[in-house]
Amino acid sequence: MMRQTAPQRTEQMYIDGAWLEAESAVSVTDLAEGGLFAEVAAADADRARAALAAADRVKPELRQTTVVERGQWCEAIAEGLRDRVDELAEVITREAGKPISSARGEVASAAERFDRAAEEARNIVSKGQFREGSTAGHEGWQAIVKHEPIGAVLCITPYNYPLATTALQVAPALAAGNSIILKPSSYTPVSAAILADVIADVEGIPTGAFNFVPGPGSEIGDVLSGDDRINAIAMTGSSGMGKHIARESGMVNLHLELGGNAPVIVFEDADLNAVAGACVSGSFKYGGQRCSAVSRVLAQESVHDELVEQMTAAMEGWQIGDLFNESTTLGPLISEGQADWVEELVEDAVDRGADLVRGGERTAPAGVPDELESQCFEPTLLANVPHDARILNEEQFGPVAVLTSFADQEEALEIANDTDLALDAAVFTSDYERALDVAERVDAGGVRINGAPSHGLGDIPFGGNKDSGIGREGIDASIHAMMRTKSIIL
Ligand code: NAD
Repeated sequence: MMRQTAPQRTEQMYIDGAWLEAESAVSVTDLAEGGLFAEVAAADADRARAALAAADRVKPELRQTTVVERGQWCEAIAEGLRDRVDELAEVITREAGKPISSARGEVASAAERFDRAAEEARNIVSKGQFREGSTAGHEGWQAIVKHEPIGAVLCITPYNYPLATTALQVAPALAAGNSIILKPSSYTPVSAAILADVIADVEGIPTGAFNFVPGPGSEIGDVLSGDDRINAIAMTGSSGMGKHIARESGMVNLHLELGGNAPVIVFEDADLNAVAGACVSGSFKYGGQRCSAVSRVLAQESVHDELVEQMTAAMEGWQIGDLFNESTTLGPLISEGQADWVEELVEDAVDRGADLVRGGERTAPAGVPDELESQCFEPTLLANVPHDARILNEEQFGPVAVLTSFADQEEALEIANDTDLALDAAVFTSDYERALDVAERVDAGGVRINGAPSHGLGDIPFGGNKDSGIGREGIDASIHAMMRTKSIIL
C-alpha cells in the first residue's frame, strides 16, 4: 500500500491563457521516496473542448506571426527551462523514477530542442521554392511554393521521457506557427506543467496558442483526437494507443511514434567486449523503459555463451538504488502493472526453456522505500531464449537483457524481422559489407552499426515501420510534418 501523504506539489491546467483548478486531480506517485508526489488538475470533456476552441480561434493570429518572432519564443523557452534545471530534474526523478543524473541530461536536451527548432524553422521557411510548369499546356507557368503552419497540433506524450519527448513535439509545433494542445501522460504531468509555466511567461505568444490539458486519456483523449479543429496529432506512446488514436482522428496529419522491439544482431567477428557494454547499457538504461532499448540480442551460435559471460560481468554496475544518488543507475519501474508485465514475459521464457542467468526477482534494496518493492524488478539476464518465447516478439519495456542464438545471417534476419514492431535495430560485425547488407534488409526505421540504437537529439530522423508508427520525428522532419505548403501561381 502506498503511504497517504499530502502532495508535495499541486499543479493547475492552462487553457486559453488562464490557470484553472478542477474538481478532480491526477495523482502522481513519488518514485524516489514513496508516497504522493503531486496532484494535477484533471481536465474533463468540457475543459478539453475549451482548449480546442482556444486553439482554433488563435490560428489566424498565429499565421500572421513571423518565424523570427517564433524563434525568439523558442529561445526564451529554452532559457526558461535552463533556469529551472534543478527543479525540473528533481521532478522528473520523482515522477518518472529516473536517476537524477539522467533527469538532468533530459532537461538539457529538452532546452536544446527548443533552440534547434528555432534555428530549423528559420531554415525551412527561408527555403521556399520557385517552380516552372513543365507539362504540355502549362509552359511558362510560374509558381512560388511557401510553407505555412498546419493549424492546431495535438501533442500526446508518454511517461518515459516526460520533458524531452514533450519538447520534441511542442518545439517544432510552435516554431512552425501552430497552436498547441498538450495532453501529458498521467504518470508524469508535473514536468509538463513546469514547461507550461515557462511558456506562459514568454512575452508575445498569443493567448490560446499553448494549452496544457492533463487528464485521463479515457475521458478526454477521444474528445481531443476526434475533433475536426485539430489539424495534426503528434503522439508518442504504445502501439495499441497509437492505433486507437488513428481510428478516432479522421482527416489529420498523423505523426505516431510507437513501441519498439529492437534486435541487436551480433556476428562472431564482432568485438564482444564492445557488444557486451552496448547491449547491457542498451537493455538496462532507465530500466529498459525506452522505445529504443535493446530488446533482443541475437548472437551467432559460436559466440552466444561468451557473450552471456561478458554481459553478466558488464551488469555489475546496474543496480536499483536511491535515485538522488549521482551514481545510481536504476530505479523502480513506472507502475506495479509494468513490473507484472515484465515478470509475465520472463516466466513465459523460462517455462519454454530459457536460462535465467541472473535476476528475475522483485526486491527493493537499501535506498528504495519498501512500499515501492513491487515495482522494483531486478536487472535480469535471460540466455538461450527459444525463438517462440513471447519476450522476443512483444515489447517488454523492462530491465531484461534477452539473448538468443542464430546459425547464419539469413536466420538472424528472419528472427529480427519476425515481429510487428520495427522501430530500431543494430548490427555488430567487423565485416563492412555484411553490416551494410544487414542494415538494408532489417525492417526498422533506423539501424545502428556497431553501437546500440540511438538517435541523438533529433537531427537524425527517427521513427518506425509496421506497428511502430507513422512518419519520422526529428527537429526538421517534425517541423515539415507540422507545416503545409501553399502554391501561389503567378
Ligand atoms: P501509452 O500508450 O500508455 O500512453 C501514451 C499517451 O496516450 C499518454 O499521454 C496517455 O494518457 C494517452 N492516452 C491514453 N488514452 C488515450 C486516448 N483514448 N486518446 C488519446 N490519448 C490517450 O504509452 P506510455 O506507457 O506512456 O509510454 C510507453 C510507450 O511509448 C511504449 O510502447 C514505448 O515504446 C512508446 N514510446 C515510443 C517512442 C518513439 O519515439 N517511438 C518514444 C517513447 C516511448
